[in-house]
Amino acid sequence: MEKLILFDFDGVIIDGMDEYWQSSLIACEKYLKSPEIEKGFDINREVSDTFIAIRPWVKYGWEMVLITHEICKKDEPLNNPKRENFIKNYKHNCQAILNRNSWNPYILQRSLDNARNYQIKLDKNAWLKLHRPFGEIKNFIQRLQINGIKIGIITTKGKIFATEILHQLKIYPELIFGYEDGKKVDIISRLIKEFEIQGFIEDRKETLMKLITKKKLKSIPYYLASWGYVKANDLLDIPQEINVLKLKDLKDLKNILAY
Ligand SMILES: [Mg+2]
Repeated sequence: MEKLILFDFDGVIIDGMDEYWQSSLIACEKYLKSPEIEKGFDINREVSDTFIAIRPWVKYGWEMVLITHEICKKDEPLNNPKRENFIKNYKHNCQAILNRNSWNPYILQRSLDNARNYQIKLDKNAWLKLHRPFGEIKNFIQRLQINGIKIGIITTKGKIFATEILHQLKIYPELIFGYEDGKKVDIISRLIKEFEIQGFIEDRKETLMKLITKKKLKSIPYYLASWGYVKANDLLDIPQEINVLKLKDLKDLKNILAY
C-alpha cells in the first residue's frame, strides 16, 4: 500500500487568525442579517482578544461567526467573566445561541463561505495574504513527497478555500478533504483501507482523543501540533497514543517516520 501522512489545516499548516476574524466580521455585517448587529460597522477592526481566546474551542468554521456575532453585539459583549463562562460550557452555549436566533450551522457556514467568496472576488491576493504559513511545514511536506509519501489534508474548512491557500503557498497535497466530505473519523476510516497511514498531525486534542478510541484506527501514529490553537490544558495528561510535536521536530523526518 502507498504511504500517506495526514494533516489538519488551520493551526497546523497555517495561522489564519486574521482571516477567521475578518471573514467572520464580514459574514456578520453582510450576510447574517441579525437584528442584534448594527449594519455598516467597521469590518477592519483589529482581531478581538476574546475571539483569539475562544478560537481553540472552535471545531467548525460556523462557530467563529457565532462567536463574532456575540462579540459585536452592543448590549452583550462577550467580555470576562462572560468569556470564561462561555468557554466552560462551550458546546451548550453555542447551541443556546443557535436556538435563540433560530439559526442552524448551515446558515452560519454559508454566511462564512459567502464572506470568503466576497473577499476573493474583491481582491484575492489580499485575502490569501491574511493566512500565515508555519515556516517549517512547507519544507517538511516537500521532503515527505520526495520520499514517496503522499500528503492528505483533512480540514473543516470548505475544500475550495483550503485548496486556494495551499496552492498559493506552493503546497500540492495529493488529497484534500473539506467539510463537504464528512467527519474526519469517517474520512480516515475510508483512507486506511487504501493507504498505509504514517501519521495524522492535528492541533485539536478532542479530535485525536476520539480517534484513538477507534479500534480500526489504532495503527495510526497521532501527533498533537503544539504550535496550533491548543488550550493550556491540552498539553497535560496526554495519553501514550498521542505524541506532542513541536515545529522544530519537523526538521528531521525521522522524528515522524518510523522507517
Ligand atoms: Mg486545526
